[in-house]
Amino acid sequence: EDRFTVVIVGGGAAGISIASLLKKHRPNLSIAIVEPSTTHAYQPAWTLVGAGVVPLRRTLRQEGGLIPRGVTWIRDRVSSFDPEGMNVTLENGRTVHYRRLVVCPGLQLDWDKIEGLTETLGRNGVTSNYSRETAAYTWECIRHLDGGKAIFTQPAMPIKCAGAPQKIVYLASDHWRQEGSLHNTEVSFCLAGDALFGVPYWVPTLQHQMDYYGVHVRKKENLIKVSGEKREATFQIVGTEETVTRSFDLLHVTPPQSAPDFVKSSPLANSSGWLDVNPETLLHTRYDTIFGAGDVMGTSNAKTAAAVREQAPVVVENLIASLDGKPFKGSYDGYGACPLTVAYGKVVLAEFVYGGKVAPSMPYDQRKPSRFAWFLKTQVFHRLYWYGMMKGRNITVKHRVKS
Ligand code: FAD
Repeated sequence: EDRFTVVIVGGGAAGISIASLLKKHRPNLSIAIVEPSTTHAYQPAWTLVGAGVVPLRRTLRQEGGLIPRGVTWIRDRVSSFDPEGMNVTLENGRTVHYRRLVVCPGLQLDWDKIEGLTETLGRNGVTSNYSRETAAYTWECIRHLDGGKAIFTQPAMPIKCAGAPQKIVYLASDHWRQEGSLHNTEVSFCLAGDALFGVPYWVPTLQHQMDYYGVHVRKKENLIKVSGEKREATFQIVGTEETVTRSFDLLHVTPPQSAPDFVKSSPLANSSGWLDVNPETLLHTRYDTIFGAGDVMGTSNAKTAAAVREQAPVVVENLIASLDGKPFKGSYDGYGACPLTVAYGKVVLAEFVYGGKVAPSMPYDQRKPSRFAWFLKTQVFHRLYWYGMMKGRNITVKHRVKS
């Protein structure tokens, strides 16, 4: 039986940044991270992997090299929570006790909710930037398509990085435009929802990009079935029993997403299965020894690494205050950011807080595609991640909220 002052569930973007910050502020704190994987991925770059800009290996690091010195790495998976007993149970049956728990295991990709998908993913022109196994195959498919039908899908919200399903639409279209094959290619973006983006401020500029490339935006079409050999995708028209089957040469799938099953089935979940936390303090709504961070939370912010960057210092400040019996000072405003790669060399940088309030950090109109924002996305953000966030160097963005 193990005991730690702080136990962190998940060593992804949130888990490592929180552990590093905690160690910085309280070097003697006893901390454990439960994380089964030996490879840590910088997922925001997978869009660039799929577009042939970045090799996959540059997005991966050894987990062991990221766990801060003095923090215990428990290489296992949490299978259940006992919030009253203040412990978690691991898959190997062991119990780990804590005084404070941070729950940040990310979210779950529900590939098997789409009939026939897992059998054909990575073959027959069926690909996804949402998996490290197939992000590079996306580029193979884009490069080798010489006219035909390309379909890109987006499931119901919430998903991580809500812009990612369309980022690859623009980059693929831009590549075919440069190759001279775009006029022979029927590009469709099929989304389960009825808006291109959750924050209306950015919708006109994104619609303009879709029109520029001649992309068919098909709203309320939810992918339910793929037959790889026949190269056919079936969509349900949302809100009806109707389905439509479309043939494709390339199919880029963004899978449906939900809270991890072990969170869904626990007393920590809200009615939709996500971790139930206070949106400002990030403390659990029912258990005052449990905090949350990252994609697992039921808060309304955009599920992004940029959001984690702002959440981590809040969790750390409030967790230390709670150990010291002091009032909470940390408050998260719902910041999230989404760099929309609208062309090779151009990014629309969407930044916003709770309530869909626009929160730019740059002194130009951020609805405009920008070369500087492309430079940030391809040259700066991954360095901020590896050398800032992962090391507990607290770099937060000064954004100005517009009402
Ligand atoms: P993760 O980083 O996913 O980490 C979760 C960790 O928990 C994993 O290491 C996992 O192994 C571990 N875990 C899971 N289950 C258990 C368990 N039972 N016990 C213990 N550990 C467990 N964000 C941006 O800011 N900008 C972008 O441009 C952007 N683009 C994206 C593009 C794509 C294609 C994808 C997939 C994501 C993108 N994101 C982007 C989103 C970003 O990657 C996530 O929001 C971020 O990684 C969330 O951090 P997290 O710590 O919550 O989850």
